[in-house]
Amino acid sequence: MTGQEAGQDGGTATVRTGGCLCGGVRYALDAEPEPISICHCGQCRRQHSHVGAYTGLPRAALRILSQDTLTWYVSSSHARRGFCGRCGAGLFWEALDQAAGGEPRITVTAGSLDDPDGLRVDRHIFVDRKASYYDIGGDGVERRTSTGEISG
Ligand SMILES: [Zn+2]
Repeated sequence: MTGQEAGQDGGTATVRTGGCLCGGVRYALDAEPEPISICHCGQCRRQHSHVGAYTGLPRAALRILSQDTLTWYVSSSHARRGFCGRCGAGLFWEALDQAAGGEPRITVTAGSLDDPDGLRVDRHIFVDRKASYYDIGGDGVERRTSTGEISG
């Protein structure tokens, strides 16, 4: 995955770039990522100090340009989280148990994008796990529970 050059196969071109706070981790996205999901689960709350905001795309479209400080933490039996071991920025979330035969996916934190313009939040997830200190508010965006059911 590292060392791939944009345009190597004639079909890729960097759409967006991003990285951590200190610059130890830099990446490029070679496909436009999907709209942003806000995750209200307890693991995101601990990692990001509040909610997590993620966009997603095929794993093959993520090119890590610099990974000097990239650290992976296996946060559950289902997923690992990539963050910068120097500045602490949260960067990636990747399922460990991706469906066989499916195209591997990865999620990227919206806040780590250099320029997130044009991306919008289109859903809240794990809303049944949110902390009691805030309200999601009436933003008209779809809400899903930890089991994936639509809730209001
Ligand atoms: Zn960093």
